[in-house]
Amino acid sequence: MNAQPAASLFINGRPVEGEGDALSVRYPFTGEEIAALREASLEQVALACQVAADAQPEWAAMAPVDRGRVLTRAAAIIRERNEELSRLETLDTGKPIQETLIADWESGAQALEFFGGLAATLTGQMIPLGQDWAYTRREALGVCAGIGAWNYPSQIACWKAAPALVMGNAMVFKPSEETPLGALKLAEILIEAGLPAGVFNVVQGRGGVGAALTTDANVDKVSLTGSVPTGRKVYAAAAEGMRHVTMELGGKSPLIVFDDANLENAVSAAINANFYSSGQICSNGTRVFLQEGIRERFLDRLAERVRNVRMGDPLDPETQHGPIVSPIQADKIRAAIQAGQEAGASLLCGGGGEGAFIPPTVFVDATDDMSITRDEIFGPVMTTLAFYDEDEVVRRANDTGFGLAAGVFTQDLTRAHRVISRLQAGTCWINTYNLTPVEMPFGGVKMSGLGRENSAAAIEHYSQLKSVYVGMGDVEAPY
Ligand code: NDP
Repeated sequence: MNAQPAASLFINGRPVEGEGDALSVRYPFTGEEIAALREASLEQVALACQVAADAQPEWAAMAPVDRGRVLTRAAAIIRERNEELSRLETLDTGKPIQETLIADWESGAQALEFFGGLAATLTGQMIPLGQDWAYTRREALGVCAGIGAWNYPSQIACWKAAPALVMGNAMVFKPSEETPLGALKLAEILIEAGLPAGVFNVVQGRGGVGAALTTDANVDKVSLTGSVPTGRKVYAAAAEGMRHVTMELGGKSPLIVFDDANLENAVSAAINANFYSSGQICSNGTRVFLQEGIRERFLDRLAERVRNVRMGDPLDPETQHGPIVSPIQADKIRAAIQAGQEAGASLLCGGGGEGAFIPPTVFVDATDDMSITRDEIFGPVMTTLAFYDEDEVVRRANDTGFGLAAGVFTQDLTRAHRVISRLQAGTCWINTYNLTPVEMPFGGVKMSGLGRENSAAAIEHYSQLKSVYVGMGDVEAPY
């Protein structure tokens, strides 16, 4: 299988070969090399940022609707090529083609379409002050660095590029070293859609290249999707230059199922919230709190349904559960499962698996202090916990440093809203889980990050306000 791109990087509107270390891209299912890339050298990172800074003013000077049109055209091209792009996404990530066909590039296209459509609404405010008045201008920040994780590489690139570009920013994007291919396609597609050269650039590399991006003098904002430890480093580095940041980081989110919940829906949601993309989703509801009256029925039904999962070749349309992105990551997940067993929790189903595959894994008899309950595993591992009453579950659900997401299943309308209002999480669901439409702001609180992606709220994080006071009369001075 060959997925070799024209070149490793994309700078100033064209493919450019990297001058740094080799980067081997492997299909997670077979381990075979599908592309041989090279990282960007530090000089190439600086060049990409310079090119972006040079291209940005002209792009920002265009009428917003003209910028928007480029994004909506890019969305249309993505949809036309969805099949080819989804296949590439599957090769890059190992995620089942039945997922990538509907969830990855499609979600990226929705972001480009949404922000493209928003272009005409990006206005300021007029503030009457008696005779005088003031107005605000919402202006671009300049050059934004985007740094992505490997679980939704193309979606992440689109989620960051769309609000940044529509506001008139330029972007230099660094995908995860594990999944470098999709962002290069996005760069090509944006050029085809009419984006001026230099406005969207891609550099490849490991953490060092990301670190160089976050401190480059031309960079005004850093948007990271990654883990909390990386987020801390990037936030600190960005602070040196007083750069803006968006941090989309990890989580260990609670999914609370009350006795009166619709059992089948709650089980479906728990499956989606833990095993989709082989569990490699930041907002996953990996702490499933089950009220005592429903717990046994829930676990019986969950075990029954999980048994039917079809694992295998991600390119087979029947496959529902693919491999983990890399053997290193699979081993980390195995170690986390083993730690759970050693701490005294038992497996309802699943376990370590073989090679790159970790089957859907469910722990019972877990306690709040175990590492499987406290730490993000980023794999298909669900920890179930029993609870008795509402106050107790709210307290235990909030007893974590993370705050990305939360979900509640109950038929009791007032309880649903009351519990959600008490949960410390940025993105919440009632009687469903993990739906992230572009219309809805997405992001975390506490250690899970700051800033929001998607929706009009994202615009605030890719722009700054200029206030303009307009004097309409004479100017008085004291002397
Ligand atoms: P990492 O934090 O390891 O890496 C994220 C990105 O940051 C990668 O591109 C990485 O490069 C880069 N990077 C690493 N070190 C630095 C540095 N010092 N300066 C700048 N950039 C750096 O995350 P993973 O890729 O392992 O992704 C998994 C994590 O991402 C999980 O914690 C998950 O919860 C979180 N995530 C959050 C989401 C959200 O929206 N909240 C969505 C998806 C994932 P490289 O890896 O190439 O070395």
